[in-house]
Amino acid sequence: MSLQKRTLLKVIVLGDSGVGKTSLMNQYVHMKFSQQYKATIGADFVTKELQIDERNVTLQIWDTAGQERFQSLGVAFYRGADCCVLVYDVNVIKSFDNLDNWHEEFLKQANPTDPKTFPFILLGNKIDLDGGNSRVVSETKAKDWCASKENIPYFETSAKEDINVDEAFHCIAKTALANE
Ligand code: GDP
Ligand code: MG
Repeated sequence: MSLQKRTLLKVIVLGDSGVGKTSLMNQYVHMKFSQQYKATIGADFVTKELQIDERNVTLQIWDTAGQERFQSLGVAFYRGADCCVLVYDVNVIKSFDNLDNWHEEFLKQANPTDPKTFPFILLGNKIDLDGGNSRVVSETKAKDWCASKENIPYFETSAKEDINVDEAFHCIAKTALANE
């Protein structure tokens, strides 16, 4: 029997209000999706235990409680983050255009030791919407943005249809662990 310690990884999720941050977390942690829009209330984070390369990992995923509109997330939110997940909605150009602001805001607030190597991951969410017909940001455009930022990994997701959600969070955990 091995008494292996569990590694705690703090992940924070940022992006415009309404892009599906809370839904992605709910789908990943609780395997649930709700059509209703409700501002996040209550807990600051949810946790999920998983194994990465035979290591026991607890992912602590921090969600914004609707304050993203006012950009008033306190220092506790950013403190000690191991990975930052940026989310946009592939159907809303503004949410894509704002990625630079979220990226900058994170680096400013979290102030990581090495901003160039700090792990980010980008998720383009709601790819299911209108069968893809209302999409305004192409995969190429998103990948170009990622390439311009030290090659951030990119996933296209649907919290509603549970597309790529596990894969994305697995990559998030792996990336955070590598940085730990
Ligand atoms: P947040 O403000 O970023 O946390 O966004 P929410 O998770 O609260 O989602 C905002 C709205 O978008 C809700 O009505 C969700 O049901 C809906 N939504 C979230 N993810 C998806 C998705 O992948 N596809 C579709 N069609 N709707 C989604
Ligand atoms: Mg939310």
